[in-house]
Amino acid sequence: MDYQNRAGSKFGGGGVASQSATNADRRERLRRLALETIDLDKDPYFFKNHVGSFECRLCLTVHQNDGSYLAHTQGRKHQTNLARRAAREQKEGRDREGVLPGMGQTVQVRKNLVKIGRPGYKITKVRHPLTRQSGLLFQLLYPQINPGNEPKVRFMSAYEQRVEDPDKSYQYLVLAAEPYETVAFKLQAREIDRSEDKFWTWFDADNKEFWVQVLFKTERDERYSNVPGLAPFGARR
Ligand SMILES: [Zn+2]
Repeated sequence: MDYQNRAGSKFGGGGVASQSATNADRRERLRRLALETIDLDKDPYFFKNHVGSFECRLCLTVHQNDGSYLAHTQGRKHQTNLARRAAREQKEGRDREGVLPGMGQTVQVRKNLVKIGRPGYKITKVRHPLTRQSGLLFQLLYPQINPGNEPKVRFMSAYEQRVEDPDKSYQYLVLAAEPYETVAFKLQAREIDRSEDKFWTWFDADNKEFWVQVLFKTERDERYSNVPGLAPFGARR
């Protein structure tokens, strides 16, 4: 048996993978991650039919399993249809500003603040499978992004932005990619969990898709991160 090319060469070893092969691997890894975290019940277009296959009600396509459906939601056809629908709804004046389908009241997200040259996008409510932390997965489409560029992302407090009156109960997730308009999503001002597997971004250079996952710290973590030590129990007199 030849163990020479087993584990180890896979992660940054001597092997030279082509850029698109690397992207394919990452896509597959993200697809699996998405399967673990995306709640398909909250996807307004996801539909399980009476013969057990899955349908996309946006694109009217049929898929044999949920993984295939998820791969579809990341593909060009679905993203284009999402962008078209968003444009149509905006034109019809049914701007669902403030609340997105399936978002419930957990997090308020507002559409970007500029109207021309916006990227298409999809937002999915996610929950970490182990910690149960809630958060959002943003997928933005930048098909015309300047060659060699990658989108940039940052958080902005209510007082840093100049677009609306500051309200300290919100913060903004700001995304910039030339030549697109810079867009912002309005989020609750809860503390973002910055650990590596919780907050991450990824630019799929093949499909020109930018992914951002944001998870909020739990209320418990937020409380303890603000105090130097644990409050003593039973200190009441
Ligand atoms: Zn679709």
